[in-house]
Amino acid sequence: MLALLLLAASISTNFEGGSLDQVEVLSPTHLRCGVKGEVDQDQRNRQASWFYFRLDSAAGRQVIIDLVNLPGEYDYRPGNLDINEHTRPVYSYDRKNWKHFADDEVEWNYQEVSLRLRLRLVRNRVWIARIVPYLESDFNSLMCEMHGNPYLRREVIGKSLQGRDLLLLTVAGSRAPENSRKVIWLMARQHAWEAGTSWVIDGALRYLLSPDLQAIRLRSAYVFKMLPMCDPDGVVGGGVRYNPHGYDLNRNWDAIDARLMPEIFAEHRAMLGWVDTGNRIDFFLTLHNTNADYIEGPLSEGGAPLRQLGERFARLLSDRTSFYSASGPRDSLPAALLITKGRMTVDQSLFRERKIPAFLLELGVEYNPRLKRLRTVDDWSDFGRALVEVLGELQEITDD
Ligand SMILES: [Zn+2]
Repeated sequence: MLALLLLAASISTNFEGGSLDQVEVLSPTHLRCGVKGEVDQDQRNRQASWFYFRLDSAAGRQVIIDLVNLPGEYDYRPGNLDINEHTRPVYSYDRKNWKHFADDEVEWNYQEVSLRLRLRLVRNRVWIARIVPYLESDFNSLMCEMHGNPYLRREVIGKSLQGRDLLLLTVAGSRAPENSRKVIWLMARQHAWEAGTSWVIDGALRYLLSPDLQAIRLRSAYVFKMLPMCDPDGVVGGGVRYNPHGYDLNRNWDAIDARLMPEIFAEHRAMLGWVDTGNRIDFFLTLHNTNADYIEGPLSEGGAPLRQLGERFARLLSDRTSFYSASGPRDSLPAALLITKGRMTVDQSLFRERKIPAFLLELGVEYNPRLKRLRTVDDWSDFGRALVEVLGELQEITDD
C-alpha cells in the first residue's frame, strides 16, 4: 500500500495563478479533477475556463486526468461550456516552454461532459494549464526589463480590491504635446484567465519600445496608452472573470461602485479624466480571449462612421494577422436595450459617455484556421506587433 501511495500522482496549485477544485484519485495514474470555476456577485454566470496545476508523478508513466465540473452559464444562459471538445490545454516541464496537448492526447466525453488528458511524462514534474499563463510576475519582469526606457511612462491610477497597483502605461516617442497627436488606447486582462491577451500586450510593448524603424515611426506619430492588467487580484489568485467581490470587470460600467469594483472605478476615472482635460482617444480597444476571433463595437449606435471603422479594422486584421472571423464585426447591444443595470461593457460605456470609437477584440484560444494550428506564445506576441501596426494604419486612413 505504501509503495502504491508513493507512486501515486499528486497535484498542487499552491503558486501564483494556480487553480483547480477537488481531486479524486481513481488509481495511482488516474485522477479526476474538478475545474474550479467562478460565479458572480449573485452566484450566477458560473464560468469554468481556467485551471493551472502541477502534477508530480514518475517520468515514463502515462497519467490520465479527467477534467470535470465544466458546465457554466453565460449572460444568464445556462449550459455554457468554455472547456469543450475543441479545448487543447498546454503543459510544460519548466514553465518556460509550453506545448499543446495533441489531438490524440485529448478525449471529450459527451456523456460525462468531461475532458480527458493523457500524458506520458518525460520528467517527474509537469505543469498543466488551460492556456499558457501570463502572471503578474511576468508583467513585473517586463516592466523591470523596460525600466529606464525613455519612451515608456508608468502611472499608478488606483488599487485593486486586494491592494495591488492598477497601472496605466504610456508609450510616446516624441516631445510634442500628447494632445497634438492621435491616441490609441488598449486594455487587457479585465478577465483574469485571458492570458493570451497579455502575451499580445507584451509583444506590442516590446515592439513599440524597440529600435525598429517602423516602431519609431509609430511611437512618434501616435501616443499609445495601455491598461495592461485590469484584474491583478484574479491573475494572481487563479481567477476566471470576476473580482474578489464577484463583479465582472467588463460589465458593470453603468453601475460603477468604488468600493465593490475599485478596478472599474479607477479605469473609468483615468479615461474620462484624460478626455475631459482636453486630450483625445481616437481609438479604444479592449482585448479578450474566448473560443474564436471576432470584433464587437457599438455599430448601430455609432451609425455609418463606426460601422465603417469596424469593418476597416476587421479587414486590416484579416489581411495582416492571424485574425480569422468568418463574419464581419458584431454589433454590441445598443445601450438603450441593456434593460438590466450592471451589464454595460467598457466599449459601450466609452461610446455612450464620450462618443469614443471603442471596440472589443476577442481572440480565440482554440485551433486557428489561418495558422492551421493553435496559437503559440510567439503567435500571440507577433499578433501584438501586427496589431499596433494595424491600428496606426487605421488612423492614417481615417479622417479626423
Ligand atoms: Zn473577456
